[in-house]
Amino acid sequence: KELPSDPILENSRRQVTEACFSYVIPRRTSKPELLHVSTEMLESLGLTEEDAKSKKFLNVLTGNISLPNTEPYAMCYGGHQFGNWAGQLGDGRAINLFEVEHYAQNWALQLKGAGETPYSRSADGLAVLRSSIREYLCSEAMFHLGVPTTRALSLALTGDQVLRDVMYDGNPAYEKGAIVCRTAESFLRFGNYQIFAARRDGRNLKILVDYTIKYHFAHLGNPSKETYIQFFKEVSERTLDMILHWQRVGFVHGVMNTDNMSILGLTIDYGPYGWLEGYDYGWTPNTTDREHKRYRYGNQSNIGLWNLLQLANAIYPLIEEAAPLENILNQYKSDFEKKSLSMMRSKLGLQHEDENDQNLIQELEDNLHLTETDMTIFFRKLANFKMDNAERGLDIVCDAFYKADEVVGNIRERWNEWFVRYTERLKLEVNSNEERKAKMNRVNPKYVLRNYMAQLAIDESNNGDYTLIDELFHILKNPYDEQRKYQKWFTKRPDWARHKVGCSM
Ligand code: AMP
Ligand code: MG
Ligand code: MG
Repeated sequence: KELPSDPILENSRRQVTEACFSYVIPRRTSKPELLHVSTEMLESLGLTEEDAKSKKFLNVLTGNISLPNTEPYAMCYGGHQFGNWAGQLGDGRAINLFEVEHYAQNWALQLKGAGETPYSRSADGLAVLRSSIREYLCSEAMFHLGVPTTRALSLALTGDQVLRDVMYDGNPAYEKGAIVCRTAESFLRFGNYQIFAARRDGRNLKILVDYTIKYHFAHLGNPSKETYIQFFKEVSERTLDMILHWQRVGFVHGVMNTDNMSILGLTIDYGPYGWLEGYDYGWTPNTTDREHKRYRYGNQSNIGLWNLLQLANAIYPLIEEAAPLENILNQYKSDFEKKSLSMMRSKLGLQHEDENDQNLIQELEDNLHLTETDMTIFFRKLANFKMDNAERGLDIVCDAFYKADEVVGNIRERWNEWFVRYTERLKLEVNSNEERKAKMNRVNPKYVLRNYMAQLAIDESNNGDYTLIDELFHILKNPYDEQRKYQKWFTKRPDWARHKVGCSM
């Protein structure tokens, strides 16, 4: 209640000034149906599977009823989209229901796709089944991979049709409407602070920053210039930590606009994200970013820094001193170098530091780019490498090459040389082959939500079969385990899926 809010209780589109959020009413759905519920998330909220079977659960999580004494709201935020200031954006299709406190943890519950809000601009406030499946499966998968992320509680059909496209023949193409209930300690984004700075609304900027610190960074203490600097430092560290996890597992966010950057360093807004198949720094899943590739895999940490600079600009009025903020940004740069090196070491099973590691890793990355090489399979198979058997290196990882017939001549030689170097380097370690393998297999996942896997689940769901959603959900709960009976999902992307990646709307 300390947050400034927009008193007008209605969903009509408008510029909302001097307010952090607006009260809204979720739209009624015509025939809601739960497709999946995350058992882990239920438990985190103190709910049981029995609870999830109730009519009330279904109705609350599709926005048909509000719990007593709760007031759903949509947040106001702005953001830089693809490097340009876009003005007011806000929760255009997300509606916050309420918060749940359980075991000293606070969870905000938010419906995505529950109808218009003042921030819907020219769109409808709805979500289609395919994008909802992608968000639902991926956010829970990321959690189990150990990546900081918003979570998902449920996936439901609304029973309503949503218009997204027009067919070649000019007829409208309707899709099934869906709602994901997502959860997080907070959904605040960089853009929530930016909007006040852009409007020169210092009063509300301070209220929001103080609120954030009080409820989410309480260990930093009472508001003061020093606290604001520490706050920025921690946001910067969390952002870097999150991006390093993305790099480790081969996740490409796809739309790192500042409105999609969580103030808590959580992966947020699963839109046109994708998973690396071939290890390729230049790859982006976002088809609208294919020209400049701003949000490509190899650029994510730079974009994190650019976004942090925008946040620094936004909160500058509270600090009025540039040097401490610049120092934090510089620290991000040097931390990235350091932490990225140690992350790559862990992927290679190296526990000790050696001065030539950077070079060894650089050569590996160069080799991985020589021909299309599946990232997940490569690192997982590399764990089987045996120190006394350098000449078998290529055989061990050969499943990772999309075009094995290209791994000949000079390319083959370079790989063999690398395996000899790797062997020499492993001699400086104390771990046995088995110990190293066990450690590597906790860092390099065996199962990730490959782009085509999500696509198959979507295709089957559009035909009314939801079993694959459950199967994938189940496998991705234990991404580091062998789970041999699901071995068929530990394979390269099939050829038909080569240039197909899901979409955001
Ligand atoms: P995104 O690219 O998903 O981060 O979305 C950018 C902005 O567009 C955010 O303010 C979203 O809330 C809004 N938005 C995206 N899709 C819709 C939609 N179907 N209806 C209303 N607003 C939307
Ligand atoms: Mg967004
Ligand atoms: Mg989105």
